[in-house]
Amino acid sequence: MRWIAPWLVLVSGTVVAQGPQLPEQDRALSRQIFKEFIEINSQDSNGSVTAVAEAARKDLLAAGFAPEDLILAGPNDRKKNLVVRYHGAAGSTLKPILIIGHIDVVEARKEDWTTDPYQFVEKDGYFYGRGTQDMKDSDAIAVESFIRMKREGWVPKRDIVLAMTADEEGGASNGVDWLLRNRPELMQAEYVLNPDSGGVELRDGHATAMGVEATEKTYADFKLTASNPGGHSSLPRADNAIYELMHALEKLEAHPFPIEVNPVTRAELTEEAKIGATDRAKLIAGVLATPPDAKAVAEFVQSPTDNALVRTTCVATMLAGGHAPNALPGTATANVNCRILPGHSQEQTRQELIRLFDDPKLKVEYMADDGKISPTAPTRESLAPPPPLQQVFDPLRAVTAEMWPGIPVIPIMEPGASDSIYMMLAGMPSYGVNGVAIDYNDQRMHGCDERVRVESFYRGVEFYYLFLKALSKP
Ligand SMILES: [Zn+2]
Repeated sequence: MRWIAPWLVLVSGTVVAQGPQLPEQDRALSRQIFKEFIEINSQDSNGSVTAVAEAARKDLLAAGFAPEDLILAGPNDRKKNLVVRYHGAAGSTLKPILIIGHIDVVEARKEDWTTDPYQFVEKDGYFYGRGTQDMKDSDAIAVESFIRMKREGWVPKRDIVLAMTADEEGGASNGVDWLLRNRPELMQAEYVLNPDSGGVELRDGHATAMGVEATEKTYADFKLTASNPGGHSSLPRADNAIYELMHALEKLEAHPFPIEVNPVTRAELTEEAKIGATDRAKLIAGVLATPPDAKAVAEFVQSPTDNALVRTTCVATMLAGGHAPNALPGTATANVNCRILPGHSQEQTRQELIRLFDDPKLKVEYMADDGKISPTAPTRESLAPPPPLQQVFDPLRAVTAEMWPGIPVIPIMEPGASDSIYMMLAGMPSYGVNGVAIDYNDQRMHGCDERVRVESFYRGVEFYYLFLKALSKP
């Protein structure tokens, strides 16, 4: 998914068509690759990720990439990933730059669309099709940039690796996870770029800001179970499973997790304070003060978006209990969904919930993505965000200034989750960088009639090419 901080729209910037322009040859090639990817159905139910990977492999072979630098690998015939290696200067001991891009798409129902989701349609200045925003645009851009750099004889100072992967949107074969477990040697990098998040935002055709996802929260579900003997409803007892569960949930509501600001959210809020209204800047200053100003914090967390930025959140999302209208409930269960700040593990969060509930009879179990319940949760702490890497942000600021003069580059923390989390868990800093500008009020990823502005796409092609060269300049 792509997510953009809502306040970015407050800034005003420059028009779309400034800066370096994409050469005609690369316009044609990027369009051809984009069309090819869109027209291959790669949804989980009846599509093939492998078919997209194979199409990319063919394009890269035709452009002169060696077969041994194009590795197709995955758990089954429909879910093969492609890992492409662009070799850097001979003898370089620098670790590679890794780009990850998912090539699966969210299910699309033809009857809900005005165009065929698996036809690449250009109309009214837009490209339509499933994956035009999320994220076959960026997949095509990465492949085209590799071909263009190769044609020009570009020798980067380090290898650039592109992993095109399965099942980010759903399905049981997440490609980033699979590659890290089965082919870890292919996935080692100094840092990771993931165009699935971050991005340039447009408002009335004007670019407003370049948001860069620099960290994200971890997802976890916990199953709460209260159980006791039950009995006849004419004889109520103190140990009612529904009441027991309710008391735990009341504690959850009343005692939110502590406020915690990390280097990324600090940078994000500092940038926002610079461009926002005076009241907002004052509020942020209070939140960022040491120690934080309690009044400012209390006001700040009134907004769900702001609240999610500064603390781990856990919320009850599902509830069940009892088995008959005239019987005391023997069991009551709830699902508690947590979004955990970087630097903490799922098990730490489970322990904090247990401490908060303070009820030894209440079971607090972990539910994995596949629905499997375990008594404890994974103990791996997600990488606490380091200050944004200068070797990434300096070139990014330079290229952004060239393409969209005057807009700020802002590191952000995504409250949701992308494949970057696997890379961060593996200890590699990961950044969501995307140059395809999307209108704030036209975010159609996962929806019907998904589309992207034609000119945004071509600008995005030029941007990534310039950005990769700036990162890998000898
Ligand atoms: Zn996505």
